[in-house]
Amino acid sequence: MSKGRILVVDDEENVRITLEAILQLEKYEVTGASGVVEALAALKSADYDLVLTDLRMDDGDGTQILAFLREHKPKTIAIVMTGFASLESAIQVLREGAYDYIIKPADVEVMKTTVARGMERALLGRQLQKRVQEVELANQKINELNQGLQTKIDLATAELRENVIQLKELDVLKNQFLSIASHELRTPITSVSGYIQIAVKRLEKRLLAGPPKEEEEWRQEATTLLEQMRVVQKQTYRFSRLVTDLLDVSKIHAGRLDMKVEPVEIDTMLEQLIAGLDVATTREIVLEKENAPVTMQGDEQHLEQVFTNLLTNALKYSPPTTPVRVFVSCDQDTVRVRVRDYGIGIAPEERTRVFGLFYRSLEREAKDVGGLGLGLYISKDIVEKHNGKIWVEPADPGTVFIVELPR
Ligand code: ADP
Repeated sequence: MSKGRILVVDDEENVRITLEAILQLEKYEVTGASGVVEALAALKSADYDLVLTDLRMDDGDGTQILAFLREHKPKTIAIVMTGFASLESAIQVLREGAYDYIIKPADVEVMKTTVARGMERALLGRQLQKRVQEVELANQKINELNQGLQTKIDLATAELRENVIQLKELDVLKNQFLSIASHELRTPITSVSGYIQIAVKRLEKRLLAGPPKEEEEWRQEATTLLEQMRVVQKQTYRFSRLVTDLLDVSKIHAGRLDMKVEPVEIDTMLEQLIAGLDVATTREIVLEKENAPVTMQGDEQHLEQVFTNLLTNALKYSPPTTPVRVFVSCDQDTVRVRVRDYGIGIAPEERTRVFGLFYRSLEREAKDVGGLGLGLYISKDIVEKHNGKIWVEPADPGTVFIVELPR
C-alpha cells in the first residue's frame, strides 16, 4: 500500500526523474509534472497529499502552485525546492503557505526526511479532517434528533393545552348545564303540580257540594279545568322531551343509541310533523317539495326527532311574525332537507359549536329562550349514524340548517 500521493514538479527532467525514483522507493505513489501548467492541471484533476515543487521554472513560478493550493486544496502539503541563492525567496514561500523548503541540490536524506515529515503532517490533517467530519455528522444527527424531539414536544404541548382548554370549556358547559337543567326541569313540574293541586281542590269541593244547579256554572267549571289540564298536558310533554333528550345523550355516550332501519317517506313525515307542532296554527310554516315522494332507508322515529328539533329551534329563535320554510328534495343517492328561519341567526364562530354537547349560544337573545343545548348534539349523532351530514349556513336574516342523508 502506498504511503501517500506526491506530485513532483520540476522542469529539469533528470532532477524530476531522480526525485520520482527515490520517492517511489520510499513507497509513495508519485506523479511528475514538468512545469507550472502541467502541475496545475494535475492538481485540478486529482488529490495529492503532498506537492514537492521547484521554485523557478521555465513556464512560471512555484508560488503560483502555492497560491492554487491555498485557494483550492488547503490540505495538500507543499514543499518548495529552491536554489541556495534565493534563500530569501524560501522564506517568502513559507509565508505563502509552504510547509517547508529544501535547498537545491537536495541532499537525498534531508529530502526524504522533509517529505516524510510533510507526509505525516498531511496524513494527520486528513485524519483530523475525518474526525471533524465525524463529529460534524454526529452533531448534525443530534441536531436533527433534537429538532424532532422539539417538534414532538411542541405538538404534545399544543395537544395538552388544547385538551386543558376543552376540559375547562366542558366544565363551564357542565356547570351551566346543571343550572339550566334544574331550572328547565323544575319549571314544568312546578306548573303541573300547581294546576293539579287546584284541580284536586275544585273536584273535592264539587263532590261535597253535589252537581251544579245551573248548566252554565257546570260549563264554566269544566272549561277552566280543561284549559288547566291542557297546560298540564303541554308541560308534561315538554318535561318528557327533556328527559328523553337526557336519556338519548346518555345512550349516545354508552354507544347504545341504535338505529332501526326501515323505509321512510321524508316528505310525508315532515308534513305530519309540521301539522302536529303546537304552533302550527299560529305560525306560518311552509313545506316546499322539489319532488315527491322522498323516500329513503332510515330510522323514522329518530329522523323525526332530528326534524322536530330543527323546526322547534327555527320557531324558538325567530320572531313570531316570521315564517319558517322547509325545502325537501332528493336525487338518486341523497335526500336533502333545508330548514330556514328569519330569526336571530348564528354567529360564524358558533356554527360548528352549536352541535356540541350542552352548547347554548352566549348571545342574549338566544340565552333568553329556554333549552338544554342537547337537541343539535343528538341530531348530529342521529344524522351521522345514517352516514349523513348536518350543518349550518347563514341566511339574511336568519339561519339555514341543512341535512343530507344517503337514501
Ligand atoms: P337548545 O335549543 O335546547 O339550547 P340545541 O342543541 O337545539 O339546544 O341548540 C344549541 C344552540 O344553538 C341554541 O342554544 C342556540 O343558541 C343555537 N341555535 C340552534 N338553532 C338555532 C336557530 N335556528 N337560530 C339561531 N340559533 C340557533
